[in-house]
Amino acid sequence: MALINDHYLKLAAGYFFPEIARRVAAFAEANPALAPRIIRCGVGDVTEPLPAVAIEAMRSGVDDLARRETFRGYGPATGHESVRRAIAKVDFRDRGIAIEADEIFLSDGSKPDASAFLEILATGTPGQGGNRIAVCDPVYPVYVDNNVMAGNTGPALAGGGYEGMTYLPATPENGFVPEPPAQPVDVAFLCFPNNPTGSVATREQLSRWVEWALRHDALLCFDAAYEAYVRDPSIPRSIFEIPGADRCAMEFRSFSKNGGFTGVRAGYTVVPKALEGRTRTGERVPLHRLWSRRWATCSNGVSWPVQKAMEALCSPEGQAQMRALVDFYMGNAAILREACASKGMKVWGGVHAPYVWVACPEGIGSWEMFDRILADAQVVVTPGAGFGRLGEGFFRISAFNSRENVLEVARRLAKVVPG
Ligand SMILES: *Cc1c(COP(=O)(O)O)cnc(C)c1O
Repeated sequence: MALINDHYLKLAAGYFFPEIARRVAAFAEANPALAPRIIRCGVGDVTEPLPAVAIEAMRSGVDDLARRETFRGYGPATGHESVRRAIAKVDFRDRGIAIEADEIFLSDGSKPDASAFLEILATGTPGQGGNRIAVCDPVYPVYVDNNVMAGNTGPALAGGGYEGMTYLPATPENGFVPEPPAQPVDVAFLCFPNNPTGSVATREQLSRWVEWALRHDALLCFDAAYEAYVRDPSIPRSIFEIPGADRCAMEFRSFSKNGGFTGVRAGYTVVPKALEGRTRTGERVPLHRLWSRRWATCSNGVSWPVQKAMEALCSPEGQAQMRALVDFYMGNAAILREACASKGMKVWGGVHAPYVWVACPEGIGSWEMFDRILADAQVVVTPGAGFGRLGEGFFRISAFNSRENVLEVARRLAKVVPG
């Protein structure tokens, strides 16, 4: 009989979105008259049609496949050169960041990348030859669960979290931007603008992280999925805006939240050639070499129509259309933020991020608040506890929705939220 990867059995409550779905389904069944009123602001999935340039490019990519003269079969596993060059130009070189096309690896999104990247790092708990891994608390659950499944943690702890994982508290006191830890860590996962708190890290804060990583030979895995939401030019949109980051950081990028590609599937990683890890005997090895090899062996890359769409988003029209889409969601975020703030609730985020992070009223837990908002307003939010121990006492509202729904949510929240 096949032996299983029993690290999967450590996963505590599973990914918590199924629990949200279960509660919503139970509510709808118990209240059939209210069920049609339910508005989902829970899962961070986009709602609006894709930019026109992306649709045209995908159509033309499909047409290419229909004719022998323009047919494309296997391409380079890390993406066509022209697409990688276009991305390196608009996302980095035009912004004064020295990233080369061959440091860009196209993929089907950041969630798979966050999992795959662990393949080139040692596995095991810190005590058994593995890396010491740090995440923020609260956190995008994907980083944690991937490390659990890879065997990089011990069992789930009774109070939440996993043995052997280092949790960096993100709290109102530090503006939900943790400082680098005092204890030694080998790999730290950072995400700014942040999901779930909507916080952004300043240049000074990210500089402290880069200095710390260089000093301790640590690796920063920087998730910039929401970089398009940054409107203040003084706030970095990439870790590579910080000098020295090319020697201590890799970056996850996604077309899901800027181009609306959650259903298309497209993203990329940036792994600079200067970035190194080490062997157990202390020999330094470029991660670029391992990551290139991983792609050559484990993948045949992204489909041709999708690569064409990625390249189209890099054109001036594509950039303008993406910006319009992001502006639309930012308008939603402002409405939701104001709806909560005007009721006297404490709110964060929603300014350089599509998420509004709200403190539950004193003494009310985040699942209790979730149930109350569902029962009283038929609005689905995300309970903060699902993002980690320190998410307890907060809930997240996603701005990914139609304007009509957002205005309705704002009206209904005003009735639920005491104030
Ligand atoms: C939505 C999201 C992503 C994007 O994931 P894809 O797999 O590219 O759709 C990445 N990181 C965070 C924190 C996200 O919220």
